Amino acid sequence: MASELNKLTIAEASSKLRAREITAMQLTRDCLDRIAAAEPRLHAFITVCEKQAFEQARAADARLAAGNAPAMCGIPLGIKDIYATKGIRTTCASRILGTFVPPFDATVIERLRADGAIFVGKTNMDEFAMGSSTENSAFGPTMNPHDTARVAGGSSGGSAAAVAAHECLGALGTDTGGSIREPASFCGVVGIKPTYSRVSRYGVVAYASSLDQVGPFARSVRDAAIIIRTIAGKDVRDSTCSARPVPDYERALTGDVKGLRIGVPREYFVEGMQPEVEQSIRSALKSYESLGASTVEISLPHTGYAIAAYYLVATAEASANLARYDGIRFGLRVNAEDNIALYETTRAQGFGAEVKRRIMLGTFALSAGYYDAYYLKAQKVRTLIRNDFERAFEKCDLIVTPVAPTTAFKIGEKMNDPLTMYLSDIFTISVNLAGLPGMSIPCGHDSNNLPIGMQLIAPPFAEETILRAGDAFERTGAFKPRTAAGTL
Ligand code: GLN
Repeated sequence: MASELNKLTIAEASSKLRAREITAMQLTRDCLDRIAAAEPRLHAFITVCEKQAFEQARAADARLAAGNAPAMCGIPLGIKDIYATKGIRTTCASRILGTFVPPFDATVIERLRADGAIFVGKTNMDEFAMGSSTENSAFGPTMNPHDTARVAGGSSGGSAAAVAAHECLGALGTDTGGSIREPASFCGVVGIKPTYSRVSRYGVVAYASSLDQVGPFARSVRDAAIIIRTIAGKDVRDSTCSARPVPDYERALTGDVKGLRIGVPREYFVEGMQPEVEQSIRSALKSYESLGASTVEISLPHTGYAIAAYYLVATAEASANLARYDGIRFGLRVNAEDNIALYETTRAQGFGAEVKRRIMLGTFALSAGYYDAYYLKAQKVRTLIRNDFERAFEKCDLIVTPVAPTTAFKIGEKMNDPLTMYLSDIFTISVNLAGLPGMSIPCGHDSNNLPIGMQLIAPPFAEETILRAGDAFERTGAFKPRTAAGTL
């Protein structure tokens, strides 16, 4: 019978590895077996790195045998295909980077590698992280492990699905407007977007640089805390990265939320949202009250402008960031009679429809005569949104909201209507605009057995508050996430 070590949490696996009850080789073998079995129906990975993974496992076992190995040593992870991984193809789910093999590692990859983590593969995503369903991948969509007719969410859908389906123990994603939290919610796993600047983005393909942030997926809050601790902290190669010391996040997991003031924003319970989503959040709030926390209604009055502001700021930054894909320096080159024609045909053939739409929107918003009306206005709205949160945090320590207005939707359902797709991020986008940390944890299921996620938001650098509250909720056992593995 298969040992199914792939179902362990990181905390469990780490202690078994260090006690030499299991080996990194066995753990990696179980993950790769699971990948082989589930991938035909899931498509969570763009590239599976079997050979490299076994090499890493062998090295991890040697280190574990020598004693004193770090917590992540021997832990198999999925890595969103937006991270530069030395010697491993990094596509960003785009044809334009379809054959790109980076000569270097992103800082977070380097840190995980140094600690002995194992990379089982590069996970699927929306092209250049633009989307909410992973349907914008040039390699085809990822299916939701709870119902393969539905999306896994996006843009980090492959990472969320891989963790939910036990293909790996944890994964890395990125979050510009909700790309960690929304897929975590749709797949029933934990996903955290740390404070803007908490984690280095060196070697992470840039989408919208004032919003992008790196973060983990895991099957428990503790596991997410272990990963963030490994990846966070100052990086001389990313000048936006904070030099603040990184706390031992696991120590924040005391189970105690007595006296915690939880703000519940009235603007986040909107008409048209799935009633079961609201019910689940309300009952989670009751659990918090029974643990000694208090809840208070708050207002974030500029919430209604967040999506419009986001789609101006994000597309403007994307249009600048994606100018580098010119057919000369990276990936795809389609030869043509002169340089201008080469740029045009390379970009026309290399980018997908949504990426082109974003580049056009962003270029328009930045163009002479429109800059003040659009981009500048959006930046002002962004300040108002940030001020809303600052004011709200005078009354509470933590804000609790739904992650998305609905559970996972059907594949194809929103593909012909970009504006409806953009609305999937209505509850997550403001957190990026304000630079705050936010986490999605499973808190319920709808009548189709699809997971519902709860979002916890804290002031800048208060990840410990989020993790403590999330862990306390997990411990109540008020909600037991259903595993996706059995359904595949
Ligand atoms: N869905 C949003 C977008 O398409 C957010 C994506 C993300 O966070 N990377 O821009």
